Amino acid sequence: MKWVLLLLVASVNCFCYDFTEFDSFQGRLSKEYVTHKISHYLQYSKEIENYFEIQEDSLLIFASPKDKKEGDYEYRLAFGDKNLPPPQINLVKPINSARIAIDPGHFGGKWARLEERYIDVEHEGRSVSFDEGTLSFLTAMHLKKRLEEQGALVFLTRTKVGEGVYPENFFDWLKKHPEYWEKGVALSAIFRRHYNRLDLRERARLINEYQPDLTIAIHYNAIDCEETIEPTKDNFNLIFIPGAFCNNELASVEDRFHFLRLICTQDLEGSSHLARTLVDVFSKHLKVSPFTAPMQNSLSEGGGVFSRNLCITRLIKGPICYGETLIQNNENELINLSQNDEVVDGIPCSHRVIDVANAYYEAISSFFKPSSEGEKQ
Ligand SMILES: [Zn+2]
Repeated sequence: MKWVLLLLVASVNCFCYDFTEFDSFQGRLSKEYVTHKISHYLQYSKEIENYFEIQEDSLLIFASPKDKKEGDYEYRLAFGDKNLPPPQINLVKPINSARIAIDPGHFGGKWARLEERYIDVEHEGRSVSFDEGTLSFLTAMHLKKRLEEQGALVFLTRTKVGEGVYPENFFDWLKKHPEYWEKGVALSAIFRRHYNRLDLRERARLINEYQPDLTIAIHYNAIDCEETIEPTKDNFNLIFIPGAFCNNELASVEDRFHFLRLICTQDLEGSSHLARTLVDVFSKHLKVSPFTAPMQNSLSEGGGVFSRNLCITRLIKGPICYGETLIQNNENELINLSQNDEVVDGIPCSHRVIDVANAYYEAISSFFKPSSEGEKQ
């Protein structure tokens, strides 16, 4: 069984990094289009130029800085005529034939402390506690219900509170990896540095297997001050989309494959289009403004939309928006989010979770044609 799994993983990897997948884009993209896309969305660090070169007639991708010096390229994408119009995002589907993937961020429940994604504060004489993984899951469940009512097919990466996606439980996994049992290293550090990475990759793998028309990763934000979380007056929304490759982030073949995918396909344009709608809808429904200041390791598109090379934004094919709504430890939100004045999927939760899910629903709906319009044609 183990060997079968290994072979499956190897064949999937092999398929994923087959650069000939981009052969259909030969001569179809202008130099101006490719250059703009790299500078506007994809390049955060100068260092990544060790792995590509924009020539007059083509983009060359190199497997290493040494290969670049020797002119030994891994893939060559020939440019088309400079008067070629930029490709357009083609959104012709009605929502009742859409496939939508939703990734509720984190684990929540019994894992919230270990993954360090929880709020536990004293505010105005009362103690308030809840966790992000539960909020994101309940938001996803309500969003799923609303989308399914419109006939969309919806895939959720996890199916209950207090569970991840990687098939092996953290403690069972840990028993097999004594190399991480370093003295003085907290369990939560092992969970976040190593196990969580496997879990994120599994989420991306399942979503790619589902082949959605678009993907939403649901997160709630928090602001920590010297690693402690206290009530704050700050509150904002932001959306991450793919891009902003930093130092050494083109060193693996997987990284370069996705870099080239983001150049060739309209996945980035689709993500950006949806993200802009999402921040507008969040501002309107949640009455909270977008975050607009510059952020490290991110390229700002303006209006609360940022390119960022997260595991989830990089690995998932198709348009993807990674939403970070609200500041959970904002002094008003922490009261709102800790209330149990609504119910989702039989679980008591805050009305704020419903507000966030409804905002996602409105933005996603506008990404597709209304069902009735689709049916008339
Ligand atoms: Zn999160």
